[in-house]
Amino acid sequence: MGWRVKYVDYPKQFANHEQEYMGIIRETLSKGDLILRHQLSAFEDNLARFCGTRFAVGVSNCTSALHLSLYAAGVGEGDEVITVSHTFVATAAAVHQLGAQPVLVDISDDHNMDVGLVERAITCKTKAILPVHLNGRICSDIERLVEIARDHNLVIIEDAAQALGASSGGKKAGSFGLAGCFSFYPAKLLGAFGDGGAIVTDNEELAGLLKLLRNHGRSPAGDITQWGFNYRMDNLDAAVLDFKLARLPAWIERRREIAGMYNSLLSGVKELKLPPPPQGADRYDVFQNYEIEAQRRDDLVGHLNDRGIEVMLPWGGKGIHQFNTLGLAGNGGLIKTTAVFEKVIMLPIYPELENEHVEYVASAIREFYDAG
Ligand SMILES: *Cc1c(COP(=O)(O)O)cnc(C)c1O
Repeated sequence: MGWRVKYVDYPKQFANHEQEYMGIIRETLSKGDLILRHQLSAFEDNLARFCGTRFAVGVSNCTSALHLSLYAAGVGEGDEVITVSHTFVATAAAVHQLGAQPVLVDISDDHNMDVGLVERAITCKTKAILPVHLNGRICSDIERLVEIARDHNLVIIEDAAQALGASSGGKKAGSFGLAGCFSFYPAKLLGAFGDGGAIVTDNEELAGLLKLLRNHGRSPAGDITQWGFNYRMDNLDAAVLDFKLARLPAWIERRREIAGMYNSLLSGVKELKLPPPPQGADRYDVFQNYEIEAQRRDDLVGHLNDRGIEVMLPWGGKGIHQFNTLGLAGNGGLIKTTAVFEKVIMLPIYPELENEHVEYVASAIREFYDAG
């Protein structure tokens, strides 16, 4: 189907910088700079600076970033890791694949971890807390979460896959915990031409360990220091991402502008619950997604699709406690999370989207509720 408003527009994204991309690809390939070359370390330096951390380590995707960070932090067999259900399955899979148990707490109004519920979820097996900064918004009360982790001697690993550049109290996503994990999946804020991810940290020892582990446990001299993984970021991806990173602040500003438009065009529609506006005083949201709660959600989706507007339900419309195969169903009382998945819907938001598209989407939504 030819959408009038697509949910993402990869061809347009490419076309906007085609010359530069082809130049970077030609230069990188013609030099044979394919694995762990200077383009990767340049990107890592720039990414660390962008996040306000001392180190960044490029890896193959955010799932491997989460897996590697938890592993390096010592999470293993029988441990518990506190996280949320309103997240991608990868968050919990990284925990599960280490033989540890994801413990799910409910979300609050901003759709992020309800930090007030964390302390009562801590047991003697708890090793780490894994907050998810969903939709480009830092988990509210992250500062309180940092205190809780300190009091209970737990590490925080941030799933910041959706929050590159977001901040709270002047501190960037990824810089609150021991490590922060990012995704460069094509639809993310900073998208690669395929998969990509990174881990940021202030801890020098951890950064060194992560660099060894992502490359088979091999030291630069070729010695095998321990069992490792092949979780390297491709050098060509790093070269392209470094170019894109310089443009990211402008792209984020455009996302925030679109979010502001949706917020004002849809304000007063009583059947909707909108996300907090971009003008938060102590908070900078980067709007990876524009996620709203809508009454009669499924009918609204049909109405928008009929008008050529492509929308998405997060994770296909279920939290991870609602996929029976994962065995996380009985895990905590996730009343709010479950209720949110009845209503939640994501509207198109990306830098290439035109104002007239935003207005068209908003008017189609108003038309649906006006018709009653
Ligand atoms: C995209 C995403 C991931 C996984 O990232 P990949 O790079 O695809 O492995 C993990 N967590 C969240 C919240 C995500 O949005």
